[in-house]
Amino acid sequence: MEVTYWRYLKVSRAIRMNSAAALVSALTCLGFVAPAGAAAPPDPLKVFISVDMEGVSGVVDSDQTSATGQDYERFRKLMTAEANAAIDGAREAGATHILVNDSHGTHRNLLIEELHAPAELISNNIKPMGMMAGLDASYAAAIFIGYHAKAGSAEGVLAHTGNGRTIADLRINGRSVGEGGMNIHAAGTLGVPVVLVSGDQAAIAELRELVPNIEGVQVKEAIGTAAARSLRPEEAVRLIREGTARAIRRRGEIKPVPASLPVRFEVSFTDPSLALMAEQIPTVERTGSHTIAFVVDHYLKGYRFVRVLYKFIQ
Ligand SMILES: [Zn+2]
Repeated sequence: MEVTYWRYLKVSRAIRMNSAAALVSALTCLGFVAPAGAAAPPDPLKVFISVDMEGVSGVVDSDQTSATGQDYERFRKLMTAEANAAIDGAREAGATHILVNDSHGTHRNLLIEELHAPAELISNNIKPMGMMAGLDASYAAAIFIGYHAKAGSAEGVLAHTGNGRTIADLRINGRSVGEGGMNIHAAGTLGVPVVLVSGDQAAIAELRELVPNIEGVQVKEAIGTAAARSLRPEEAVRLIREGTARAIRRRGEIKPVPASLPVRFEVSFTDPSLALMAEQIPTVERTGSHTIAFVVDHYLKGYRFVRVLYKFIQ
């Protein structure tokens, strides 16, 4: 830009007069400050979306959620559609940055070529923070899509915690929780509220025990643990989009829920030999035939360790 002599005079006069208003006007004139009325870039609003699969509308059997199942290709598309619904809803509510974390099984289910802008995707499951990988304190809100009830639930499609074959129950500071509860505390540790969960009625009721005013989008009604009455995908997607926009807008009313420190984790296995193996790890205490416990001074340390137990004590 050409700096004319009169512009120079205006700036030097503003500095001499020590006048902030005159200086702003002079700098505006020089092009250093946007003139009043020009569109300022929006404040960043970052939203994190963790997407599991058992709670997607229509899912009732592991044949639909396992990469080797014959219906898997159909249901991973529906999972992607529900993730997109959350992305669209977050965008409607002003999200400028959206991070999606594939959080089911291999964590390689979502079809990246179908994912809506402006999302980025974290995939594959060798990641210490698992279903919460990528979340940090700069995010305004977290959203849980396709979530399911915890291990041992009488009701809740494909209810399990971490690993359906090995984990019978997980307790944090004495309270039995599932993946959703464990993840709510992880977000809470970072000061991030979990503002929406979608899934069946059991998954939603379970998370409302920790976050009473969480937005719940019920896309199916579980009948026991292996059947459900589901909404058509089109309808599920509409409810998730609308629910997400609503939840992001009222994020200020929904509190982050950290676990109180120090945190005691107790894991009950389905087989005593798994507890025997876990007991060999220093700092782990055997508290029952099927159960081990450990205490940590930082929640995320314990979170990462529970992930290791799920994945590697088999
Ligand atoms: Zn899961």
